[in-house]
Amino acid sequence: MLTAACGIGGKTPHVTTTSEATTSSTESTTSTTSTTVGGALAAVDGKVILLDPGHNGANYKHPEVINKNVDAITEKKPCDTTGTETNDGYTEPAYTFDIAVRMRSLLEAAGAHVVMTRPDNAGVGPCITERADIGNRAHAAAGISIHADGGPASGRGFHVILPAVVQGHTEPIVEPSRRLGLDLRAAYETGTGMPRSTYIGKDGIDVRNDLGGLNWSTIPKVFIETGNMRNATDAALLKSPDFRQKVAVALCQGLADFLSGR
Ligand SMILES: [Zn+2]
Repeated sequence: MLTAACGIGGKTPHVTTTSEATTSSTESTTSTTSTTVGGALAAVDGKVILLDPGHNGANYKHPEVINKNVDAITEKKPCDTTGTETNDGYTEPAYTFDIAVRMRSLLEAAGAHVVMTRPDNAGVGPCITERADIGNRAHAAAGISIHADGGPASGRGFHVILPAVVQGHTEPIVEPSRRLGLDLRAAYETGTGMPRSTYIGKDGIDVRNDLGGLNWSTIPKVFIETGNMRNATDAALLKSPDFRQKVAVALCQGLADFLSGR
């Protein structure tokens, strides 16, 4: 059985967003609607980028693996979770892998070196700790964990999850990750038209200290819940290949904006 929530924690956020995280980022960037990369993604050329598509397609078959606890620093958590799905059975791991593959094509065409945390959607794991380590070992310039939420049916929209300060661990990445998250928020809403979440976070931003994938990261990294799979309007969009291409283009644009250092 699949869990009802996205499964990256499902808890009330421990830290509320700061006011500064809600400013700016409404300016539009270069066009994100085209599927051609052109110069829009020039800043990714030569950069190592971590793509972490959430969950994995066979996780649900192997609870003995994914339910094993790992150290998320602030708490013990399961190695991984199954993820959520739409009411008619489009699964989050299939969705996140599809987005990552689309992004990899765009980024590689623009000259980036893409590192993925899983090669397909048929496996189990890796654990959240390993997902962080993969980006760390690659010394990626930026990383993004791609998810879709299993929120309340009445709630719409996306939100970006930023790492909170975890003493002795995340201090070096909190500020660059915040910039990355704000660039992704701006590019995502411009490129997809998806609204900011109506049911969690503030202005499309949440800050959490309970995610091992962020707490162990030594590279600038955020999670994005790209929509709510349990909301009919969002689900229809997430199931659309045309919309998923917009998602991929927008997220690549956000990465490029961050890497351009503007
Ligand atoms: Zn998820």
